[in-house]
Amino acid sequence: MHHNVALARYSTFRMGSTAAYFASVSSLPEIEECLSFADANNLPVIVLGGGSNTIFASVEPLNAFVIKIDSKGKKIISTNENSTLVEIGAGENWDDVVAWSVENNLSGIEMLSAIPGTSGATPIQNVGAYGGEIKNVLVSLRAYDRHSRSVVTLSNTDCGFGYRDSIFKKDARDRYIILSITLRLSPHAPEAPEYPGVKKYFDEKGIVSPTLLQIREAIVAIRAHKLPDPRDIASVGSFFKNPFIETQKALTLKTKYPTLAVFPVSETQAKIGAGSLLDTLGLRGKVFGNLSLYAGNALVIVNNGQTRPEELLELKEYIISEVEKKFGITLEPEPVFVT
Ligand code: NAP
Repeated sequence: MHHNVALARYSTFRMGSTAAYFASVSSLPEIEECLSFADANNLPVIVLGGGSNTIFASVEPLNAFVIKIDSKGKKIISTNENSTLVEIGAGENWDDVVAWSVENNLSGIEMLSAIPGTSGATPIQNVGAYGGEIKNVLVSLRAYDRHSRSVVTLSNTDCGFGYRDSIFKKDARDRYIILSITLRLSPHAPEAPEYPGVKKYFDEKGIVSPTLLQIREAIVAIRAHKLPDPRDIASVGSFFKNPFIETQKALTLKTKYPTLAVFPVSETQAKIGAGSLLDTLGLRGKVFGNLSLYAGNALVIVNNGQTRPEELLELKEYIISEVEKKFGITLEPEPVFVT
């Protein structure tokens, strides 16, 4: 356990004050020990994975106990001709898990390649990319329940998954500490994602039926081209979720602003690419003091390393209000704000 720890290095946004207490833990007894200490000292607990979707937005030092979950382990627990169950420790780097699944010829998460962060964080926001979501493969997860003070197993349904959403961001926020996730992967050949960037990549290479490894390589290359590497540039990836609106409204907007990305999701609803809203407003690449909207993808807000929390909150509100004024759509941030 450490005292007065600077938090900026534990978030890929690289902003943050200090935490009164901080510990990296990899076993249940260690977690229980930290929780007992926090209880005894009346300290709120903040659970952290890779910090790629967490923004430490408080100016004041946090009188809290930040617990970073580092539990490791990747194992195949059962297999048959149609599926393989794997159990992954919450602290495993997610992209290492995807690479491992591909090495083992298991499909199902290859489209989630190169997403920063830990495996235990993937259910929190139901991580998704290129048409895949963790909810499509997650069978269950083991978590420490801070209410019952015991280890529980939550099924896929229990997690209440939605678009980039789950109970862990809503009613159950702060209740569970995810220890491991169990995924159902497939030994069968995957389908390539039907996303324009992926199609273009394979067309240019003349690949008609890509293999599992080729799909992973494509996603890694496309993401490296369009998104900043969190090791070099501070961001939390997409800053806003793609909004879902009524189809009629989406069609009206598309007529008025033909470059908007509009995807029908049901008879009554359409998904709007949030990045295309920001592009239409001319915000891509714009600099706002210590912050900017990444030139390769307006949805990514970049911190030059000097940003203060109030600057980010101001920019967030500015963007939300500009989008509301022009399109009548209210954007919701994707990362979790710790204040
Ligand atoms: P893109 O291919 O330029 O597409 C822009 C948006 O349009 C995406 O957000 C995507 O929605 C949507 N889209 C594109 N083709 C679609 C299709 N065939 N069906 C349904 N929706 C479609 O996107 P990008 O910015 O390069 O990102 C590619 C993927 O990586 C996306 O899935 C995105 O969500 C994911 N990503 C996630 C993060 C993060 O931090 N969470 C950051 C960057 C990228 P969806 O987002 O719903 O897929």
